[in-house]
Amino acid sequence: MLNIHVIGDHPALTLAAEELQRCLAQMAGAQAQIAPAEGFTGAPGIWLGIADTLADAVELPEVADPLWDDAFCIRSVEGALVIAGSNPRSVLMGVYEYLRQLGAEWTVPGDAGEVLPEIAEVPLGGFDLERRPPNRHRGVCIEGAPSLRHVLDMVEWMPRVGYNAYFLQFQVAGYFWRLWYEHRLNPEWSETRELSEEECEELDRTVIAEVKRRGMILHQVGHGWTAAALGLPTDGWVTYDGEIAEEDRALIAEVGGKRELWGGIPINTELCYSNPLARQKMLDGVIEWAQAHPDVDALHFWLSDAPNNHCECAGCSEHSPADWYALLANELSARLAEAAPRMKIVLLAYHDLLWPPETVEIDRSHDNLISMFAPISRCYAHSMDDPECDSGEPLVRPARNAMTMPRQNRQLAELWRIWGWGDRANSFCFDYHFMWPFMGDLLSINLATLMPKDIADYEAMELGGLMNCGSQRTFYPTGWPYWETARLLCGEPAGAADRERYFRLAFGDGYETAIAFLNGIAAVSGAPRHGAEWWQQVAPGKAGALREYLDAWAPKLDAAASAADEAQRHAWALLQHFRELAGHFAAAQDHLESGRTGEAVAEIEAAEEFVRRTESRTAPALESYTLLRYLAGLKARWAETGARKQP
Ligand SMILES: [Zn+2]
Ligand SMILES: [Zn+2]
Repeated sequence: MLNIHVIGDHPALTLAAEELQRCLAQMAGAQAQIAPAEGFTGAPGIWLGIADTLADAVELPEVADPLWDDAFCIRSVEGALVIAGSNPRSVLMGVYEYLRQLGAEWTVPGDAGEVLPEIAEVPLGGFDLERRPPNRHRGVCIEGAPSLRHVLDMVEWMPRVGYNAYFLQFQVAGYFWRLWYEHRLNPEWSETRELSEEECEELDRTVIAEVKRRGMILHQVGHGWTAAALGLPTDGWVTYDGEIAEEDRALIAEVGGKRELWGGIPINTELCYSNPLARQKMLDGVIEWAQAHPDVDALHFWLSDAPNNHCECAGCSEHSPADWYALLANELSARLAEAAPRMKIVLLAYHDLLWPPETVEIDRSHDNLISMFAPISRCYAHSMDDPECDSGEPLVRPARNAMTMPRQNRQLAELWRIWGWGDRANSFCFDYHFMWPFMGDLLSINLATLMPKDIADYEAMELGGLMNCGSQRTFYPTGWPYWETARLLCGEPAGAADRERYFRLAFGDGYETAIAFLNGIAAVSGAPRHGAEWWQQVAPGKAGALREYLDAWAPKLDAAASAADEAQRHAWALLQHFRELAGHFAAAQDHLESGRTGEAVAEIEAAEEFVRRTESRTAPALESYTLLRYLAGLKARWAETGARKQP
């Protein structure tokens, strides 16, 4: 009988012991019992605990802030194995790393991704590992259309591969939950239902409990504070067409002589920040919410989600939008330090706020500010700090409400540097690889080769990590880019040998076929390609060759898939699915380039039908909602272009 000694009662420590027990039983048939302990005695078995409690056994290098910084060691000491971490979450990560050393892996979230190979015995000797991820911030943010299962699988997977923070957007994440449960873009989906506000809150609470159970960092909110100040809906990009009282209307930004909701959407609307009542209502709302949600570690304080909508009244015109933001942030920082001393505020450089303040300095004296760079308009063909991604145009501060979102990475990176916010401990990038770009992976971009460069670039820009803002389901055609991202953020290698290992675990013996197929697509499609527009999945002139390539691979993939073991068949099925979907894109673009708009649109309709019909099989790996929206956008654009070309 193997003893797993656990010092401490944090749920992440209990979970670490249970996971160890479960996986070792499956891998080695080992019977292990979990034994709570007061302190290290040197008894045989595996010891789990945070570093202080195991100081008699092992020494762990100090971290700047044990709540935020992860470090763990796995050491053999005279008949025992010690896994100690800087915090309970790190102990859990240490357990997963130990299992990885024994051959385990979690290629994607959920049972389908768990690989637990058989081993002869549980080795306790010969371990001397220490890990300290160089990036404090390694997060995933809810977006797209997830079910509760999808998010819980994601949260479970995150510490297995090294992510440490989860972000539930808005005061309640109902917008995203409803996209899945209402399932409006796929009429063939049989289980649809509407969610009440209470049900959405309950879904959030379930997620938060699992995040906290793992000792992970919880981020919340973001946009919506401007809407809250007006007493209007805060949860997502929903329109409001009810009455607005005159005293509330006076708080709304005046743009073009009118004080109106921006596009009818409260969260896209700015306030008249020179109006003290507007500022007070907004900040009171934040403080009140923070006090009611003490579990939150990082509270995102963002302005609206639209550019060029700032107040043009005489009072507001005295400061730039970012100066008003800095004034608000300084007041909030001081007030929150009193109201919720442990909580951090996350500020956002985005839209008009990509341009830093001109006169107001951000006051960091309360030690509760994190800054976040969100380059939403960036190029994904080049890495974030690539000087080659440049239009050559000089960077000129735009007039109020005349901002053009920079498409070139050089300009965006320069704006971040002008802000002067770089601070590896207290800043990170909020990036969108897994939101829309992933749909063009291997066709117009190449995530597998981009991610290592981007993560190195974040460091060069003094950003302390990444929050993935995107779908919870972008493990398509493989989970390598998402897995690779986690490992790179942890400072772990993710090179060719690691990719080969990953593919071997995901695809089994025929893995080289899978690698060759994917590498070949990128070679034929010409990805990555700078300047590709959103409707160009494949580089001009390449669609014909890509069609031929994909057709030629069909029998090879079919053969490899039918030879695969049951456990790997799902991974092959996704690859076959991707071959077919990419075929629709290539055919559509081929038609379009030859002036056959009608056929191009019909091809996209075939793709839509294919995605809807197969959704029940692909759902955990592929976000159909975002994809179907994209396809609808393509169709609308091409139909319009075709109509214009008619005499
Ligand atoms: Zn104003
Ligand atoms: Zn570029």
